[in-house]
Amino acid sequence: MRAFAIPMRVRFRGLTRREGALIQGPAGWGEFSPFAEYGPAEAARWLAAAREAADTGFPAPVRDRVPVNVTVPAVEPGRAWEITAGSGCRTAKVKVAERGQADADDLARVEAVRDAIGPGGRVRIDVNGAWDVERAVRMVKLLDAFDLEYVEQPCATVEELARVRRRVEVPVAADESIRRADDPFRVVAAEAADIAVLKVQPLGGVAPALAIAEAIGLPVVVSSAVETSVGLAAGVALAAALPDLPYACGLATLSLLDGDVTGDPLVAVDGEIAVRRPEVDLAALARYEVDPTAWRRRAEEAGRA
Ligand SMILES: [Mg+2]
Repeated sequence: MRAFAIPMRVRFRGLTRREGALIQGPAGWGEFSPFAEYGPAEAARWLAAAREAADTGFPAPVRDRVPVNVTVPAVEPGRAWEITAGSGCRTAKVKVAERGQADADDLARVEAVRDAIGPGGRVRIDVNGAWDVERAVRMVKLLDAFDLEYVEQPCATVEELARVRRRVEVPVAADESIRRADDPFRVVAAEAADIAVLKVQPLGGVAPALAIAEAIGLPVVVSSAVETSVGLAAGVALAAALPDLPYACGLATLSLLDGDVTGDPLVAVDGEIAVRRPEVDLAALARYEVDPTAWRRRAEEAGRA
């Protein structure tokens, strides 16, 4: 086991460094990077995902490239236009409902992104649960003037998502509402979403996530947990193994980190990521390597859980 701490270029979940461990086994490298606040029971699924990558490998792919979205943060319209136009992606995910900003800021940003990507591109918005039902219904209808592909997590709870979904024509995607293996089934039972955003590590691996995707019968968007190329490769493997992949995935997140643990990072080219597993490069890792003692203990506790 090796441990890493990589500075973040953009603050995420209040973090300034992304920390985790890399486990090597007969099938390759796996990433174990549960967030610091997660206890052993929750971290156990993240460990299972790392062990799958290291011990058994991934289900067979049905495609060799995965389309990905560019993520546009809550920046001013001119900058949003540049980020979109320079990305090479045909799908943009626009962050809205930023604290301290007005609804007019969201409208201007989404308008700029639509202009940059053109009428043939796709524009989705991510609310991160920040709106109440009434505001969500009003804003989705306003922002759909720019032809939304879907709205991701417009409100915080499953019940609120279901209420919004009944009142807007734009499809609703559940992201934060899906954190554990049984969450996707709650979302389906509540008729709360048209699309499920799935992440490999919280769901315990590529094969378990694939089984969930097949069982829930909703189209899936695979997203990362802001991992190194080792963790991203598991997300890419899930996206590559899904029978249908109608939406671009949220796997182009390596640019949020200041560096990587491979010499051949898993980045998007022309809006797609190639399906492959980059090797850990010990010289690249050395820049960010830290003492693995605490991570070894965390993995042991997760293993017991
Ligand atoms: Mg999201």
